[in-house]
Amino acid sequence: MYDLIIIGGGSAGVTAGIYASRKKINTLVIAKDFFGQISKTGQVDNWPGDMAISGMNLALKLEKHLKSFPVEIKVGQKVVAVKKWQDNFLAQTEDNKEFETKTIIIATGRNAKTLGIEGEQDFVGKGLSYCSICDAPFFKNKQVGVIGGGNAGFETALDLVKYASKVFIFESSDKILADEVLIEKVKSTGKVEICLQAEILRIEGQGKVEAVVYKDMALNKEVRLVVDGVFVQIGSVPATGFLGKLVDFNEKNEIEVDSATLETSVKGIFAAGDCNNTKWKQAIIAASQGAITALSAYEFLQSPAQGGVGRNGVPPV
Ligand SMILES: Cc1cc2nc3c(=O)[nH]c(=O)nc-3n(C[C@H](O)[C@H](O)[C@H](O)COP(=O)(O)OP(=O)(O)OC[C@H]3O[C@@H](n4cnc5c(N)ncnc54)[C@H](O)[C@@H]3O)c2cc1C
Repeated sequence: MYDLIIIGGGSAGVTAGIYASRKKINTLVIAKDFFGQISKTGQVDNWPGDMAISGMNLALKLEKHLKSFPVEIKVGQKVVAVKKWQDNFLAQTEDNKEFETKTIIIATGRNAKTLGIEGEQDFVGKGLSYCSICDAPFFKNKQVGVIGGGNAGFETALDLVKYASKVFIFESSDKILADEVLIEKVKSTGKVEICLQAEILRIEGQGKVEAVVYKDMALNKEVRLVVDGVFVQIGSVPATGFLGKLVDFNEKNEIEVDSATLETSVKGIFAAGDCNNTKWKQAIIAASQGAITALSAYEFLQSPAQGGVGRNGVPPV
């Protein structure tokens, strides 16, 4: 039996683990991996203390920092269900093991949104990718399409131009949604063509990606463009499905939390980072929320109802 289980190994989960360990809470961290979304970005310029650091290096530093504390970790494990069990909770992992705990911090972040169109799932890993940092080097001197004209799509195009001979960005609306600074950078490469009002219909190929078929809505005609790869960058969805209806969610399936303590609608369950309903999604915000949830869980555990007596024997108010 644990006092706290933290689910997730991104900025939020790692920071929660560090704070929990410093409070000497009997904690288990369960994480599919320690990479999180930050590892998917080339360079991070807004993590205080590191003026410019690659996303992967930042993720590795976070993992190392957590592991410098004596906290129990199960990595490579996915939590598939959480349920109430008497006065406590049970977290069930993919391998059908159950772990009992008094409190839980959910820090499972977000997953890439999929297009849901013909061909997409057939070509994952065969020319279709959701991560340019991971896969851009496979497209040396190739022609590649990026689906999504927001910041993520433009950052992906910047990763790709280091290798690809030509990059097309497809955006379904009639305007670019990325920040000006990114637009300028992309345009200055001279290698990127932006296709607005392009509704993606399907991905085609024989065993690997060979073409993107889209409808040019301005000209009202179907276009087949030959590409060797496709990168999908149309946003993300919270990784909260494994919770079923245990806690309250907003309309985007983000976990509703109390803004002061980050407690969910269920006492003893807290949610930190990109999986909750906080408006802004950034690594430093996720980290700060990891800290808040660990301190909130500590306070919860100290309450007389949980058998805690508070610091120096005095129950916390
Ligand atoms: C392309 C891109 C670029 C970005 N650039 C920046 C930037 O420059 N600066 C910035 O501040 N932010 C940036 N962000 C946002 C930042 O990455 C996120 O806000 C931050 O990573 C959120 O951290 P998190 O811990 O909440 O979630 P995540 O980073 O998503 O981590 C979630 C963790 O939970 C694990 N997990 C998920 N489900 C389960 C499960 N069922 N069981 C066990 N483990 C699970 C995952 O494996 C992962 O370890 C960027 C995001 C993207 C996608």
